[in-house]
Amino acid sequence: MTIAVIGSNMVDLITYTNSLPKAGETLEAPDFAIGCGGKGANQAVAAAKMGGNVMMVSKVGDDLFAPNTVANLQQQGVDTRFVTTAPGTSSGVAPIFVDDQSQNRILIIKGANQQLKPADIDDAAEALKACQLIILQLEIPLETVYYAIDFARQHQITVILNPAPAVATLDIDYACKCDFFMPNETELEILTGLPVSSDEEVILAGQSLLKRGLKNLIITLGSRGSVWMSGDEIHRVAATPVQAVDTSGAGDAFIGCFAYLLVETGDVAAAMTQASAYAACSVTGRGTQRAYPDAESFQRFLN
Ligand code: ATP
Repeated sequence: MTIAVIGSNMVDLITYTNSLPKAGETLEAPDFAIGCGGKGANQAVAAAKMGGNVMMVSKVGDDLFAPNTVANLQQQGVDTRFVTTAPGTSSGVAPIFVDDQSQNRILIIKGANQQLKPADIDDAAEALKACQLIILQLEIPLETVYYAIDFARQHQITVILNPAPAVATLDIDYACKCDFFMPNETELEILTGLPVSSDEEVILAGQSLLKRGLKNLIITLGSRGSVWMSGDEIHRVAATPVQAVDTSGAGDAFIGCFAYLLVETGDVAAAMTQASAYAACSVTGRGTQRAYPDAESFQRFLN
């Protein structure tokens, strides 16, 4: 394996409706769908679909969603040897309500993801040591994230930390131990307490983090593209123009593709340009993982 994702998986329970029930009320909704999600799983699937050799360290619940989650990862080519069951716990689930304006209302029940502990990293240690890159997000306990960062440093493995969803108490000293810190603009705002409504404000907020010792900061800005800041260098990448249908999971598509290309080429700027096109391609379809192209479809999109 070359890439390990230590992180979450979730089951998206998507109800399509324009009206939500009040207390005591029962309403009928027109449509429903189930999808495999979770930031960790999304990023693992994106990297694997691009051709990466990817393993996941993750927890599933003790319920009927678990076999489906594992089977889905396997179908996408992700190694699931270290996706284990948390007894007596539900899988991570995300009830999502989507109206006809494509507005999402999302609840997250972390479930088994909260049971991913440092001991699970120890259990996967030999396989992890063989990886060149570890990707982390914040849908698992912070103590596990910190433990994984220290593990990676000890074994000279490159680390990408995607601080999502934003946790204001994230210890920035740990972020500084990572090779790449990749927030979106909202996460940047929460972490710095600074405004991010213009490109200039984004850069100022980014600089405030760099001053604290971050090595490489890559901020994704939705349809405004992305920016890589390192030392005094600022490298902007425009978004690839597309007709967006559903932007959910775009950040995960970007990170998974970026990680794969970083391992393959070591060229950060080129990896960002390609990841930007990959994420743009993903927003032209509905859903998250199902909208991520494989390497062949991505090539067709580029031509
Ligand atoms: P999510 O949390 O849904 O995974 P995010 O908010 O973390 O997403 P964004 O910053 O919205 O991530 O998007 C990541 C990248 O995807 C952007 O930097 C951009 O390259 C690409 N992207 C997102 N939205 C669009 C769009 N409408 N058109 C083209 N590219 C897009």
